[in-house]
Amino acid sequence: MNAARQEALAEYPHLYIGGAWVAPVAGEVVESIDPSTGRPWARVAFGGAADIDAAVQAARVAFGPWSRRPGHERAALLRRLADLYERAAPELARLESRDNGRALRETRADIGGHHNAWHWYASLADKGSGRTIPIEDSVLAFTTRKPVGVVGAITPWNVPLMAALWKLGPALAAGCTVVLKPAEHTPVTSLELARLFEQAGFPPGVVNVVPGWGAGGAGERLVAHPDVAKIAFTGEGGTAKAILHAGADSLKRYTFELGGKAPHILFADADFEQAINAATGSAWALCGQSCALGSRVLVERPIYERAVEEFTRRAARVRVGPALREETHMGPQAHAEQLAKTLGYVEIGRREGAQLACGGRRLEGDAYGAGYYVEPTVFAGVGNDMRIAREEIFGPVAALIPFDGEDEAVALANASSYGLAAGLWTRDVGRALRVSSRIEAGMVWVNTYRYIRWSTPYGGVKASGWGRENGMECIEPYLDVQTTIISKSGRFPDPYAT
Ligand code: ADP
Repeated sequence: MNAARQEALAEYPHLYIGGAWVAPVAGEVVESIDPSTGRPWARVAFGGAADIDAAVQAARVAFGPWSRRPGHERAALLRRLADLYERAAPELARLESRDNGRALRETRADIGGHHNAWHWYASLADKGSGRTIPIEDSVLAFTTRKPVGVVGAITPWNVPLMAALWKLGPALAAGCTVVLKPAEHTPVTSLELARLFEQAGFPPGVVNVVPGWGAGGAGERLVAHPDVAKIAFTGEGGTAKAILHAGADSLKRYTFELGGKAPHILFADADFEQAINAATGSAWALCGQSCALGSRVLVERPIYERAVEEFTRRAARVRVGPALREETHMGPQAHAEQLAKTLGYVEIGRREGAQLACGGRRLEGDAYGAGYYVEPTVFAGVGNDMRIAREEIFGPVAALIPFDGEDEAVALANASSYGLAAGLWTRDVGRALRVSSRIEAGMVWVNTYRYIRWSTPYGGVKASGWGRENGMECIEPYLDVQTTIISKSGRFPDPYAT
């Protein structure tokens, strides 16, 4: 027996419901696979409908007192959580890399900054002011803001902690209580997060964490539950549609952060070196598994051949390997289905007539074992109507599409069902302003890429989603507006007097 086989599995036998660690009612335990090895590394309790019902009930009971608690007290608890999170971040990064295969250098950088975001959300907790509205002098009209109620947060496997942060931060600051259902492939760090909420002293039921399946399982029950007021979801468009159907009977409200096929536009006048740094970095970051990555690289024709050569040269420098190895640039795909999907798209690209400039194969052999590794991949000669340019692959596949001039760049950029993000590189300020304003995307980066902060709104248009996370706007979907109108005279004429 080799050393890896002897390693005991990490045990996560409990769900976090109502401030207690409880076994799932149906007793289901699922092995979580380490994508770097293709072998199980943890055993995790999965909840079902009965556990979701218990969690929603706990959140409902907790909602009244939590929503009435002064904002500065909710803020103080969130700050305590932020401090605990900062201390736990190195271990959280390690666990997240283990569970989803994202290279440690990336999870460390990302999760290492999350405490700033928790602090920022804390700062929103006592800012939910209403306004007075001038109408007739005989009345006073004003609005107040009220938390919507119990929130169901459903998160994906590519960035489990970040997705939870972006939902729980504003929800808790607003005074909502939460049931978090992490993705079935990556439940571990959400349970670790529950531990931090417990340590921080949040009242029981304010945050509940129930790992489980999506369709037909905990996720679906959470969406259908009549006492859940709002669903905050990050995942696929098809899942969002299923969620809309399942939630229809209870008329829920939603924020959706869905997919993307972001155009990353390289004009010939750009600083070529910087543009290539950003374009290659964003094509292969997270092993291609993020919706905001620039997976469609639109390159102006005079620099097209050079860009293909440079992409190919950079691909050879990418160190693919186990997520926890320090030197690894790019870890494996997060699970076996995703690996198969990416390899399937490589085949589709070939059949569609795109030229595979490099990569496209699974990496196998002693160094890779049964892990889900794939080469950084570059397709040249891609047409914007090909499936590899239209559909979200979620693998490290860059599709390089040539264009001529500004108008064609904009037309190609917008010829997509998605509209999450876009990037453009140019030294011409006027062009930067013209092109960015014409692009249909929730976020545009100019001479930079994937610049993401808690204080700037994140989200998409078209099929990329509804609503925004982060930024001052992030708290709106968690608050209702109540309008109050008070008569100064208290007189109300008898409508039937004459
Ligand atoms: P991905 O392909 O990134 O896994 P999904 O949209 O399938 O994206 O999954 C994102 C999250 O949605 C996961 O937590 C998953 O369990 C959950 N989910 C999937 N299907 C449903 C559903 N029908 N109802 C509620 N949640 C679901």
